[in-house]
Amino acid sequence: MWFGLRKISRSVKIFVCESQLICILLIGQETRKMITVLEKEKVGEEDVQNAFLLENYLKMSDAEIAEHIELARKKLGSRVVVLGHHYQRDDVIRHADLTGDSYQLSVMAAQRKDAEFIVFCGVHFMAESADILSEPHQKVILPDLGAGCSMADMASVEQVEDAWEQLKEIGVISDKNTVAPMTYMNSSAAIKAFCGRERGVVCTSSNAIPLFDLYLKEFDKMMFFPDQHLGRNTGLKFGIPLEKMALWNPHEELGGNTEEDLHKAKLILWKGHCSVHGRFKPWHVEQVRKETPDIKVLVHPECMYEVVEKSDLNGSTSFIINTVTNAPSGSKWAIGTELNLVLRLQKQFPDKEIRLLAPDLCMCATMYRIAPPNLAWALENLAAGNIVNQISVDGETKHFANIALERMISLTEQNKAKN
Ligand code: SF4
Repeated sequence: MWFGLRKISRSVKIFVCESQLICILLIGQETRKMITVLEKEKVGEEDVQNAFLLENYLKMSDAEIAEHIELARKKLGSRVVVLGHHYQRDDVIRHADLTGDSYQLSVMAAQRKDAEFIVFCGVHFMAESADILSEPHQKVILPDLGAGCSMADMASVEQVEDAWEQLKEIGVISDKNTVAPMTYMNSSAAIKAFCGRERGVVCTSSNAIPLFDLYLKEFDKMMFFPDQHLGRNTGLKFGIPLEKMALWNPHEELGGNTEEDLHKAKLILWKGHCSVHGRFKPWHVEQVRKETPDIKVLVHPECMYEVVEKSDLNGSTSFIINTVTNAPSGSKWAIGTELNLVLRLQKQFPDKEIRLLAPDLCMCATMYRIAPPNLAWALENLAAGNIVNQISVDGETKHFANIALERMISLTEQNKAKN
């Protein structure tokens, strides 16, 4: 009895039967007939894995890929949940069960305890967070292991630990002077674990404000990793002047600061940034305003301070979506965030004039690596029992990173309930 049919390319189909026999059909251009059945013997796991080579999916048409994704999803049923970040391309987002920013997706991942597989269409640090928050029986899959984040790569845990030691040596951290480490979600699991160990917390762009509020009240200082811009823009909202913010360059002694600078600082910012949001410059704001005087400029706080300062509004990905969604018909928006999200908003709201703040492409190239062929490949392998591209955080890191992530979730939810 045949129970599976998978088209590997336009000309090759594979049938998998109940007894794990694999037959390959070579399909001619005009007539479809079976030319050969290569093997009639029982085959091992390796052969099944080989049947699902990514390169074969790359040869398929978009329609064929979509068909494969749907078939695999049907076969997996509720065993799989597909999560899609807002910056994902449309042809991937259309297959996602749930979409959101990194905070929403981490909460969703933690809630879907029934799903055996969490297929994360995002980047590596997001999949790590999902693995940390998931149950032991769940497996998190990243359809392309090359989907990393340049910002997260700008801070290693060794550099962070070294910075912490240096701050202790000069007495910036002591029994009398308390410093809280806070890391942006866009960081490795090891840095999240460091924060969990040191009474710190994780934040996202959507909850940075309430978490800064709590931590600035409780601690003498904060050290923020790895995005200097989110840290600076949020610190300014709390009235911390720029002179009280030190920038820590991990490649220099004391991060390139004097002891005095570090003692004086209320906020120590790690020298990291997002390569996508870093492309928006103050002159882009001036340019759009000159072209369209009544346009509103709306940017993400990962943009540099000089851009945020010139904008009309700034906030997280969810804030950007909600602002545009609730804006009146005919309103005009220049948006400083990732290209795929801006294009989706343009399509969703044809009655509003929406444009990207910068004329050149601002796309998250690493997120873009998760393409429909990768998703089809990952899902079909899972449906066939092959676990591919699993993201697994080691036990100790998971334990401490979970403390920092759970702290973020509970403090954020408490804050929402209060307001
Ligand atoms: S948009 Fe920037 S911060 Fe977000 S995943 Fe891409 S590189 Fe990282």
